[in-house]
Parts: sequence; C-alpha cells; structure tokens
Amino acid sequence: GEKKRSADKKTHKRRSKVTVLKGLQTGEDSIRVAAKQALQQFGDTLDEPVSVVNLGNVINQIDLWRKYLPNVRPHYAVKCCPDKQIIKQLLEGGCGFDCATMQEINTVLALGVSPQDIVYSHPCKPRSHIAFAKSQGISLMSFDNDVELRKVAAVYPEAQLLLRVVCEDSTAQCPMSLKFGAKSSTWRELLRMIQELKLNLAGVSFHVGSGCKDPESFEPALRDAKEVFSLAKEQGMQALRVLDIGGGYPGDRAGFETIAPVIAEKLARLFPQTEYPELNIISEPGRFFAAQTAHLLTKAYAKAKLPATDGTSEQVCRYYLNDGLYGSFNCIIYDHVAVHPEPLSSEGLERPEVPCALFGPTCDGFDVILEKHMMPELEEGEWILWRNMGAYTSAAGCNFNGFALPKAWYYRVSAYDQQQSQETGSPFANIQIRAGEVCTLETLGIWKDSKPLRCGKYDFCSARA
Ligand code: PLP
Repeated sequence: GEKKRSADKKTHKRRSKVTVLKGLQTGEDSIRVAAKQALQQFGDTLDEPVSVVNLGNVINQIDLWRKYLPNVRPHYAVKCCPDKQIIKQLLEGGCGFDCATMQEINTVLALGVSPQDIVYSHPCKPRSHIAFAKSQGISLMSFDNDVELRKVAAVYPEAQLLLRVVCEDSTAQCPMSLKFGAKSSTWRELLRMIQELKLNLAGVSFHVGSGCKDPESFEPALRDAKEVFSLAKEQGMQALRVLDIGGGYPGDRAGFETIAPVIAEKLARLFPQTEYPELNIISEPGRFFAAQTAHLLTKAYAKAKLPATDGTSEQVCRYYLNDGLYGSFNCIIYDHVAVHPEPLSSEGLERPEVPCALFGPTCDGFDVILEKHMMPELEEGEWILWRNMGAYTSAAGCNFNGFALPKAWYYRVSAYDQQQSQETGSPFANIQIRAGEVCTLETLGIWKDSKPLRCGKYDFCSARA
C-alpha cells in the first residue's frame, strides 16, 4: 500500500492532466458514447470535423499481434496515420516504426523513438533524406534497383540494406507491385553490385499489398525471400539477418485472426529457427493498428431538399458535410473503401430512411462522398458518425478551399479495461488526453500487470548495432 501511494504521488502531476470522463456501462456502444462526449467537450458551435481516437484499440491490437505473431516485431507504418498519441502508445507497447521520409523520421524521433527502432522503408529515396537518415543513425533501409544502390554508395555506404522483392498482389485492396519491388531476374546482379560497391545487405523485405485479402500471397513472397537468402550465401556474402514481411494486415480482429496463423505457419516452415537462428523477423503494419483506432464525426452544416434527378417524384436530401474527398474521405479514391454514415443522435437513428446525397464541403463538384444513399433524415447541424476511419484518411487529406482536417479527441477503452470492469463490477472510465500531453501506459493505468511488447526478437536492433 505504502509503495503504491508513493508511486501515485510520483505520477500525480501527470495524472492530473488526464480528464476522467463519464463512466460507461457494460453493453453500451463505447464509440457512440465517446463521440457524444467529444462533441459535448467541443461545444455546439463546432464546425470542424472530429476524429474520435480510441487509444485502447492500439493496446488491443498490440496484444492481438503478440498472441499470433510473437516472433515478428511490428514496425508501425507511420504514413497510415501519423497521429502522435497513437505513435506514443505504440512506442510504449514496444513497437518499432516504419518511416518513408525525412519528415516521418523526424516525427517519431521527436517522440522519443530510438533510431535503431526505425526501418526506412521507401525503396526510392531523395539523396537529402538518405543523408538525414545517416545523420540520425538510421541505418536499416530498403532499395529495389541499381540506381538507388549507387546513390546509397555515394551518400551512406554504411547503410544496412533490405532488398525489396516484388510481390504478386493483384487481389489486394491497394496493389503496389507496379511501382515497387525488384523482379527475380535482377536479384543476382543487384547482389553482385552490392559486393562491388562494398555495401551491406542486411536482408530482404516485401509488401504483399495493402489490405491483403489472401494470406497465400505470403507463400511466394517468403519463398522469394528465401531464394535471395540462398543467393547471398552462394555469392559468399555474410549471412542475411533481417526478414521484413511488410504490411498488408487487416485492421479487424476477425480478419487478422484468419490471416495471422497462416503467416505464422509459413514462417515456421520456410524460416525455421533451427536453420536461421540469428534471423530477426520484422513487419510494417499500418492499417492493422490504425483502421479501428479512429472514428470520424462530420456535421451536416448545410442541407437542401430537392426533387430527384432521375425523374421520380421522390425528394432527395442533399447534405453538405464539413469533411469530404479532399479531407478524410480521400480514402474512397485512394484506399478504395466503402464508407457508412450513421446518425449520431439516438433519436436520429430511429427516423425512417429517405434517399439522400452526401457531399464534401468544397466547391468542387467532384467532392461527393455518397451520391445515392438511404438513411434517416437529418436536420441542419446534426452530426454523422463514420466508424473505423483511422487508416489512410486524414493522413492523405489537405485543406483545399480552406476547409479544416479533423480535430483529434482521444479516449481509451481497451479489452483490458472491459475485463477490469467486468472483474470489479465498476463502469470503466473513458479518459481524454489533451493534445501534446505525455501519456504512458503507466500514467494511463494501462497494463499494470501485463508486460509491454517485448517479443523474442526485441533486441534485434541493439544486436545489429
Ligand atoms: N510498408 C510500406 C513500404 C508501405 O508502402 C505501406 C503502405 O503503403 C505499409 C508498409 C503499410 O501497409 P498496410 O497499411 O497495408 O499495413
């Protein structure tokens, strides 16, 4: 008790910054409750969209990853959602980070990520960014062509290189093979060049495409990686020690639970520990951590009721929302997702459905979120909830026409909280963290009894250095 009190005292300063909000009863839809509390906090006059971020989902996902792929250390792909609180939560959980640019590297370094925990994953990098990586001691980086090798030789010959091999990813939500990855016909020559230029090949990377639907995509990719390992050995290179299995994992639990055991089996079969005792297996999940961590709230700030354009007698409700294709909903174009609006007010949910069109706020006629949709009629000023909008949304949005990207509002409801609440019979608390606040799992009271993510290969970077 004494010990706990002094620990409480120590963290008091930090804890006092955390606002404990209204309790949530078991069985309530925590996303809707959190969204309503966010709006209460911001006030009725708010005209900007809101991203309601559940840091508890980050913890859930880390736990899920540890359960199914304990020997693969995740490096969060920052591009997917560069939210600082999400990054901090992942850092606390022992994750590494996948950065694609100098700016992303800067973001994570400023949050305390160590250079050894970063993989610089863009296969084609500007010279200035490579030089920056060198200045910061970030050595692990991918490449997929000879021109890049010459560039690295000139700017950062000490770099530890990952040869990114091309994947057959035609069934993925977002294929990448058109743009990235070395074809098998080039591997031998690239390896020879590495030797000639006296560069360091650390291992192999691949990406099966973002939103991978078929875990069988990992089979040829892993076989290809294995082949590069053999080629390197054949050419008398030092044994390769890094296998980077990229991103592509779904953000929903059921999807991951289908894919992950298949990947684990393939890794165990194709890269058994007995044969590759020193191998560090890493990955670059983005969507997996971000997709269900943030939900979007948009306001129908304008409304018009007009006759349908198709000649029917029905009227169509046109809503103009404060976020659109140039903001969070760019995911419709670039990430090929189907989005689902849901009236936020409980009473609104009960109203009969009417035909409507949902538009983004800009003056561009192309800025249409849903052209034809059936949903309960809304009044001007009502809010709409869009679930699971964390991955590839605001990250790629802009302020075209002067419209703002969402404000973030943070809370935490994790499986751990729910379990605690069931065990103690008390409602679990939602916690809001103010922007910029230092939050740690300890200050948030998370994972008091469970260990942070330290998978078998956690020391991979220090071992490398
Ligand atoms: N790694 C690289 C090199 C990528 O380009 C991407 C996505 O574009 C990712 C990882 C993350 O992919 P995902 O969000 O599908 O996990």
